[in-house]
Amino acid sequence: MKRLIIFLLIFLLIGCTKEQPIKEEKPLEEVKEEVKLTIEDYKENNVDELGLVPIMMYHGIHDKKNSDTPYTGGNVDKDGYQRTSEAFRNDLEFYYNNGYRMIRLTDYVDGKITTELGKSPIILTFDDGLLNNIKVTGLDDKGDIIIDPNSAVGILEEYKKKYPDFNVTATFFVNAGLFNQPEYNEKILKWLVSNGYDIGNHTISHVNFSNATIEKSEEEVGKLYSILDGIIPGKYVNIVALPFGSPYNLNHYNMPHIFTSTYNGKTYETKAALRVGWESEDSPFTDGFNPKFLKRIRAYDNEGVEFDIKMNFDILSTRKYVSDGNPNTIVIPQSRESLLNKSTEKEIIIY
Ligand SMILES: [Zn+2]
Repeated sequence: MKRLIIFLLIFLLIGCTKEQPIKEEKPLEEVKEEVKLTIEDYKENNVDELGLVPIMMYHGIHDKKNSDTPYTGGNVDKDGYQRTSEAFRNDLEFYYNNGYRMIRLTDYVDGKITTELGKSPIILTFDDGLLNNIKVTGLDDKGDIIIDPNSAVGILEEYKKKYPDFNVTATFFVNAGLFNQPEYNEKILKWLVSNGYDIGNHTISHVNFSNATIEKSEEEVGKLYSILDGIIPGKYVNIVALPFGSPYNLNHYNMPHIFTSTYNGKTYETKAALRVGWESEDSPFTDGFNPKFLKRIRAYDNEGVEFDIKMNFDILSTRKYVSDGNPNTIVIPQSRESLLNKSTEKEIIIY
């Protein structure tokens, strides 16, 4: 009953402020769409499409309990690059319960954010193509891969079912060993791209770009793209996760060659590069957004200090990107207007 009264009030309010003849001809769905787009709704949901976006950096997920490791919060190694399956499940619960919904890294780079009204985008990435990212235990009757439910993808599939509106996805950055399961590698890549996941470039040998020659750097990037081209042509993302975060400097002599060059007679283009970062990134609609050098959050627990998950999400609680649910508009509070990249073709709504 209360809801009905609120709906009627909003309906009357719109009726008073919009031109009547146009509205009367519209079907009910479109009227509902208009109700969503009131200033009151933006305020109520704290919509801010110039807010920060977390790009989480994971490596290995180990089938262990947190109590099986000597480190804090499910870290398997001292620095938390390796995590337990229990910790990963806890992370996913935390993201979901705090209003985060996954988006593809490639969509973020392209400014296509379809996150529903009032929710915030989050991006998951995994580096190194570790076996425990998607551990295959065999093939079923149809020849399809059977995935260990406690490997990273096994857990992500569990959350796809548990929270259908979580929009589960992730981007996996691989080296020449792919997922280090020679008999299943090709099936794994094909399975991932047909099930809503993405594959990116982490170079052939996990090269350190700081001291590699230009020729070596081009081979490291170009050859990995050509391996992916051979297995999933046109279905991988042209994004490089910089090994070790190297060369650490956007002006380094190797940077232009990571983005475009020719290897073995074939030209490649890289549209974004990821660092080994420590904090959230800017909205793709801000003036300062630079997809060529994106920061990531190391997904680890360090009791709320040194830019671990807790510290970063405390910062995000007041500065995160909150969507209006419409990918064609950029909705921002007045106080944030100066951050906007004005060259956008999207409709801008400032409230
Ligand atoms: Zn790596």
